[in-house]
Amino acid sequence: MVRTRFAPSPTGYMHLGNLRSALYTYLYAKHNGGRFILRIEDTDRERYVEGATDVIYRTLQSIGMQWDEGPDIGGDYGPYVQSERKAMYLPYAEQLVREGKAYYCFCTKEELDERRAAAAARGETFKYDKHCLHMSREEVERRLAAGEPYVIRQNVPETGEASFDDVIYGHIAVDCAELDDMILIKADGMPTYNFANVIDDHTMGITHVMRGNEYLASTPKYNLLYDAFGWEKPAYIHMTPIMRDAQHKLSKRDGDAYFEDYLNKGYLKEAIVNYVALLGWNPGDEREFFTLDELIEAFSIEGMSKSPAIFDVNKLTWMNAEYIRRLSPEAFTAHAAPYYAEAGIGGMDTGILCRILQPRTEVFTQIPGMVDFLAALPEYEADLFTNKKSKTNPEVAKAVLELVIPKLEALPDWTEEALHETLLGLAAAQGMKNGTLLWPVRIALAGRQVTPGGAIEIAALLGREESLRRLNEGLKKL
Ligand code: GLU
Repeated sequence: MVRTRFAPSPTGYMHLGNLRSALYTYLYAKHNGGRFILRIEDTDRERYVEGATDVIYRTLQSIGMQWDEGPDIGGDYGPYVQSERKAMYLPYAEQLVREGKAYYCFCTKEELDERRAAAAARGETFKYDKHCLHMSREEVERRLAAGEPYVIRQNVPETGEASFDDVIYGHIAVDCAELDDMILIKADGMPTYNFANVIDDHTMGITHVMRGNEYLASTPKYNLLYDAFGWEKPAYIHMTPIMRDAQHKLSKRDGDAYFEDYLNKGYLKEAIVNYVALLGWNPGDEREFFTLDELIEAFSIEGMSKSPAIFDVNKLTWMNAEYIRRLSPEAFTAHAAPYYAEAGIGGMDTGILCRILQPRTEVFTQIPGMVDFLAALPEYEADLFTNKKSKTNPEVAKAVLELVIPKLEALPDWTEEALHETLLGLAAAQGMKNGTLLWPVRIALAGRQVTPGGAIEIAALLGREESLRRLNEGLKKL
């Protein structure tokens, strides 16, 4: 049975890279009828951010990536939060100490800093020098009994090679001579990420470790631990990074690296997920639009890219516009409502708004800018009435408005149908092109030349009183 895990550290909002890791991990498990496990890696208390775990839950749940085992729902391999597993790690480290594969280290921070500085002065990169490995058992016992602070370090062989085969990156080998004796248990008794991830992946029965490629270089060391314990290794699938451009990873320093940023900018979560899924994976055919279920169906590791993906916000925006166009009118209105309120048009006819806005909205945050003229008539000058194509200018506009205003004042029902019939009927009666009549009306109603929707829709949205007020104001300018 395939068992994958998403193992975020609760350090803040969800980066798009993390979201993609979660997604591929989820998709792989579900495609193979396996289980998707959520594990919170909070051993680094300094980086811990209050509330970040809730962000993780909320994000995964809002997308529909429900985990099968996790901190809140439990499972057979719990607890699923590393800090709650604290007591489990030390016995494993002590086992390695007994077997000579790890050792206690009492070097203080000051001593290490000194040796690090000395190495730097010699132009060398510092590597822990196995100083404490050579301490006698009696001395170790004495210092432990005296309650001296200690860490436990991995005893990496001084020669030979550590290697593993990654599904994406292939064979990765490093000289043991280059590897540091990494800390397994810290002075506060907490395991390091490096140790905990191995113990947890093994004890939770994880079959496929899928994660960012920043762990590629450390994985040979993890495998030395698997070897030291005599455990079977999981399959490793390290994922290529998401790049801002050819040289730079998408990073939080650029802003815009977080899932919530895009929600706040008016992107639909379904579009973000679809786009992120395609950053580093392709279905092997031309399809571009996928629901989560379709992604489960189509996902395969063979489709994962071996080269970094470049994040293209224009492509995301294009995809988002497409998702917006596919929304039902009710769903569009529900998403748009906060932006209507922001623009001050909360009470207007949502049916008309949806009809004129849905086809041209790429991201919801554009809405206030598209409809602000409905809330307040912009300042404008008479020359706004000039338009070659509609054969209008201030003079024509004056004649049109003088004709239109009394007709509209007399209109019994201020509906789109009635407005349509009256205005087009008037144009026909005058032998005027529709555009010549409708242009001045729209300019007077909107105070600008580019609007979503035409004169009739805008008049219907504004209502009788406000429309007539604006038409009269327009006439006064002429
Ligand atoms: N806790 C690690 C992170 O958030 C995950 C590493 C892993 O998946 O093994 O980067």
